[in-house]
Amino acid sequence: MDIGPSVVNQLVRDRSLRLATALAVAVAIPVAVLFYFQFRSISALSRSSAVILRQLSQETAGGAAQSLQDALKAPYINVLLRVSQAQTEPLDLGLIGPTLEQGLENEPFVQRFYVWSDQTIEHRDEVLAYDRDSHGFTTNVPEGPLMVKRFPARDKLTSFVALRVDAEGLRRDFLPAFMTARLKTVEGPTDLPRLGVTVLDQDSRVLFPLGGTAPTQFIDERVFPLVFFEPDLQPLIAPERHQPEIWRLRTSYGNQMIPAIISARERPQRALLWMLLGLMAFSVFFVARAAAREVRVAEMKSNFVSSVSHDLKTPLALIQLFAETLELGRLKSTERAQEYYRIINSEARKLTRLINNLLDFSKIEAGLRRYKREPVNLTELTRRVLQSLDSQFRHSQYTVTSQLAADVPVLIDPEAAEQALENLLSNAMKYSPDHREINVEVNRVDGFGVVRVTDRGIGIPPRLQRKIFRKFYRIQSDAGSGPQGTGLGLAIVDHVMRGHGGFVRVESEPGRGSTFTLHFPLHAGESPGERHRDETDSGDRGRTADVARSA
Ligand code: ADP
Repeated sequence: MDIGPSVVNQLVRDRSLRLATALAVAVAIPVAVLFYFQFRSISALSRSSAVILRQLSQETAGGAAQSLQDALKAPYINVLLRVSQAQTEPLDLGLIGPTLEQGLENEPFVQRFYVWSDQTIEHRDEVLAYDRDSHGFTTNVPEGPLMVKRFPARDKLTSFVALRVDAEGLRRDFLPAFMTARLKTVEGPTDLPRLGVTVLDQDSRVLFPLGGTAPTQFIDERVFPLVFFEPDLQPLIAPERHQPEIWRLRTSYGNQMIPAIISARERPQRALLWMLLGLMAFSVFFVARAAAREVRVAEMKSNFVSSVSHDLKTPLALIQLFAETLELGRLKSTERAQEYYRIINSEARKLTRLINNLLDFSKIEAGLRRYKREPVNLTELTRRVLQSLDSQFRHSQYTVTSQLAADVPVLIDPEAAEQALENLLSNAMKYSPDHREINVEVNRVDGFGVVRVTDRGIGIPPRLQRKIFRKFYRIQSDAGSGPQGTGLGLAIVDHVMRGHGGFVRVESEPGRGSTFTLHFPLHAGESPGERHRDETDSGDRGRTADVARSA
């Protein structure tokens, strides 16, 4: 039941965690607000872009269709209406001739004008044509009598003026030129697709742009009848063919609808924002982690100082105590004296190891640690280290078993390798207070000379198995509880192994024990024959050599 509050307390007390949280909050909240507004402004921008596109399309479609219709009506307004208003009875050809001439000049798609009057002095009751070839009134025009015959109201009228359109010229020349000029003034947003305008005739043939295709997706469409006169006059002039052609004008944005355009434009912007957001979160996380780590290292360093003082003081006190006792000569039995000498020796070794670790660590930190490699038999080296620790094993009542292959040649710095192995063995003793059994193996595995140290101690939780190789890192960091240490041993082991092109691995299960394995690259100079022999030797591994036994 205490777990909840105690975990919370621990979190509150954990300075690195507090720092990481403060950093995350101080940076994450403003960044989140910033990004929220960014996303909102993208949405607002998209909405207004959509409105602009829609308006541009509507206005262009309406405006262009209207001005096209006006242009088509121009001959009626500028010529026919003027003539009708100004005409005199009888029809004065001399008066209307210049108006028709000007009409031909101004209205490029008009092919010819017709004039008829039953009051005209000359050419009475005769259809006259005024066209580009004659530039004057001519008679015997094929359409003329036809038109007049069919003209139902002829009896009621005394005259009329009409025009004939050059249908081909209207489609091929007039319309493209007119639309091009009209659209020159249309401007849209530069970063969005251009507005396209297409004009189609009754049979859905594209008249504008020349050679273009009809858009499948269009935004606006205006449909209008192709009339060159007042529509009301049409039935009078051509009563049977009163079927004006229907044209269409469409606006489009490259076959895309507006929502698709907007979302295509929005997508990269949103993606970029998400990416930036991810990047920010990532950096905040790493900065927080780095800061937390720094705080933790600072804490570890302060623990380290107290551990070093403790680790120095304890053996020194023991050495002093036993040396003084020996000096006073109060000991009766030589066996006892021997024991005291052994203790002094073993404590001195501990001190040496500690000081070596400290010196080595400072060299590593300064980047000055160099390894002097020479051919060494790893088995011999291991045997030497085990012997040197023999009295410590016996004194602390550890059973040490070993399986050592006969010959494992490696190219290493023997002192550094001994120090690494001693650190592992000393940890194996320190962290297995209950089951005092240690096993050491030396053999070859996959091109490496391997030393494996196994204990049956407290073990290491899987999540901490990588961390223990960091400098100053200790699982039992609280001074006073558990074995003392500086947190440098494994950091040094790791450095030594990397320095030799090898590596150290740990397998461990809490409560069951740990196995640390040092992999040194084999000495390249050896021949395959030798390797075979050594592999055979390593078959001897079942043989157990007790280096030290519990008393
Ligand atoms: P130190 O032993 O001085 O604390 P090390 O770098 O040698 O520092 O080890 C780091 C930590 O790894 C130790 O504090 C201990 O918690 C853990 N550790 C190392 N070896 C063993 C082992 N054989 N069994 C259990 N834990 C171990």
